[in-house]
Amino acid sequence: MLMDKEKFIAGLNGLDSNNKDVICLYNEISALAMRCGTAEAEKPAARNAYYLSMEFLIGRSFYNNLLELGVLEETAEILAKKGIDISVFEEIEDAALGNGGLGRLAACFLDSAAGLGLPLHGYGIRYRYGLFKQAFKNGFQTELPDDWQRFGDPWSVRREDEKRTVSFADMSVTAVPYDMPVFGKRTNRLRLWQAEGSDEAEKISEYLYPADDTEDGKILRLRQEYFFSAASVGELLDKHVKAHGRNFEAFARYNAIQLNDTHPVLAIAELVRLLTADYKVDFAAALEIAKKTFSYTNHTVLPEALECWNGDIIKKILPDIYALLVKIHLKQKEELLAIGCAEKEIAEMAVCAYNCFSMANLALYVCKTVNGVARLHTEILKDSLFKTAYCYFPEKFTNKTNGITQRRWLMLCNKELSALIDKAIGTGWRSDISELGKLCGKTAGLADGFAEVKAEKKRQLFDYIKARDGVEIPRNFLVYAQVKRLHEYKRQLMTAFAILEIYNGLKDGSIKDFAPSVFIFGAKSASGYRRAKAVIKFINEIAVKINADAQTNGLLRVVFVCNYNVSYAEKIVAGSDVSLQVSTAGLEASGTGNMKLMMNGAVTCGTMDGANIEIVERAGAENNYIFGATVEDIERLKKEGYKPLEYLERPAHARAVNALVDGSFSDGGTGGFKELYDSLTVGAGWHAADNYFVLYDLESYVDALLKINADYKDRRVFAIKQLENVANSAYFSSDRTIKEYAEDIWEI
Ligand SMILES: *Cc1c(COP(=O)(O)O)cnc(C)c1O
Repeated sequence: MLMDKEKFIAGLNGLDSNNKDVICLYNEISALAMRCGTAEAEKPAARNAYYLSMEFLIGRSFYNNLLELGVLEETAEILAKKGIDISVFEEIEDAALGNGGLGRLAACFLDSAAGLGLPLHGYGIRYRYGLFKQAFKNGFQTELPDDWQRFGDPWSVRREDEKRTVSFADMSVTAVPYDMPVFGKRTNRLRLWQAEGSDEAEKISEYLYPADDTEDGKILRLRQEYFFSAASVGELLDKHVKAHGRNFEAFARYNAIQLNDTHPVLAIAELVRLLTADYKVDFAAALEIAKKTFSYTNHTVLPEALECWNGDIIKKILPDIYALLVKIHLKQKEELLAIGCAEKEIAEMAVCAYNCFSMANLALYVCKTVNGVARLHTEILKDSLFKTAYCYFPEKFTNKTNGITQRRWLMLCNKELSALIDKAIGTGWRSDISELGKLCGKTAGLADGFAEVKAEKKRQLFDYIKARDGVEIPRNFLVYAQVKRLHEYKRQLMTAFAILEIYNGLKDGSIKDFAPSVFIFGAKSASGYRRAKAVIKFINEIAVKINADAQTNGLLRVVFVCNYNVSYAEKIVAGSDVSLQVSTAGLEASGTGNMKLMMNGAVTCGTMDGANIEIVERAGAENNYIFGATVEDIERLKKEGYKPLEYLERPAHARAVNALVDGSFSDGGTGGFKELYDSLTVGAGWHAADNYFVLYDLESYVDALLKINADYKDRRVFAIKQLENVANSAYFSSDRTIKEYAEDIWEI
């Protein structure tokens, strides 16, 4: 145990809680836990892995840390004696230092590594403001700054003594580390850098993803990426020299660095720069060291998310890095020519083309491994996005299907289900998640108990939604949930159309015997993403209309919860019956929301995309609801020439889609709904009509939703399907993922 429990309990018993507000208590108890919990921290490991990520979406630390330290229950009991319900700390808002799945994955990985006792440490940015707080004004999303530090930051320690300087052509910035312990079998560390020194410098760590549609915005983003990459690599190299002298050959023996997507890829150039400039290592030798040190994870095939930096911008603020990138580019070309690549192939793989530096190509060239995040995604990387690189360097490619930590996403968010599992198979699964498989074969006997747990979690969720969003949901409604960032490829709009079709069918009597249901949405849209914002407004309009319709609102309701974040997710995944994972096949790299919902016993209603494929493979096709075009179908449609208008000939579809423009709903004069309609029917300069195949998949989607609805009527049989998902979810624990990274990539 990494905690002095007695000291903590004594401290907690002695805590004077009179006249103290929640924030004050939160800070005092957290500080006490930090004092008792970090004494043994930082046992140095010989070889460490480092996870460089622009985002760490850790959410609320309070409950999770107390759970990891093994004192959550006792804390609740002691506080209860003082008349304090431990749930009051839900008032403390999340640290939302991330945007979505990629950042949440980073947090799950740190949790799992600590839980397994593996030395993996995080490096990122300590943003002054996290991802914006979402509010709805008349159904439109508005964005408010997320001042998360106003609750204090008791889980971080500022390390003034380890601050460093990061230099740009026009300024020097001080990078001050803030360390957060990651508790588990061993205490690891998440080190977040804060930029200081001048107003200009402070801007670097002010916001997560500031707008980058202007040149200034792009420069700021580049500064952010270089800032944390350089501070992290610089520190690792300094430590190495201190411990091992100038034996740089050994650097890769002690350090493995994982680049979470392309944002930290400049770390490669920085390591080469430091070795060559500060230590006079020969360029080729320095590059070889980098080749042994770095690994890269790709998270998306969407072209707009593959970063390319204009050479002029790099040259302006990072001239030395620019010069090195050019050198690396030339070296790459030489190597590719030597192994017989054609001009065209070299152009495809080149670090630089037409003065644009491709971060993905730089990573592909230098990194020893490149991994996708689900089996299908890795296959797509090999077959299309990185096809040429795969052809020449197949040994670099590997798959690491994502996972989620069962500590936050089952034990913490669903104590009731956890207790049911304890009763059925004992508590061994809590320390070895693979034991969850012991539930297989027991699901029929547990069906009633599970149905009770689910009903309780729904009641809690509905109470929470009522309190937070003011929407009433009657008990025992079937819960369909689509919670994830708002993006066209995730197709929340398709769900909106499906709801309208069901609503219309209930009204005209063509849909009968419908089990009362609610559709729950949670999503933030990027602030400049007009279409995504129009989808939010559209769904909010639909919700107002449907929830107010006395003829149907005993059967159907819709709610778009405001400010979806990790803490809201904890409630929703536990209380949902159906997990909507309906991305266009080939576009969702993995998804992790799908895994959280599965582990809490939701059936998946989804396309053959990302990790859905592996979920269904394990939990059984008969226990899930797969529909829609496959990757092959989409390719064929594109080749044949997809004509979305043909699918609008179906009257039910036409009616739902026309609701965008026939006056049924108002977009407040913004033109947003017409823009959505046009994107489906005529396209735009930069993409074809219905680029995401919404109209093609709509019919089979509605059928799948209705099939689930019909199946739900036999509650027992449905509960067994849900339990089969729980029983087969161990594979989707990030403990499994981290073991694979540790064995195959990091060798820690
Ligand atoms: C898990 C999670 C995500 C990722 O969801 P996907 O459905 O995989 O896109 C995004 N945001 C939050 C708050 C999460 O907890």
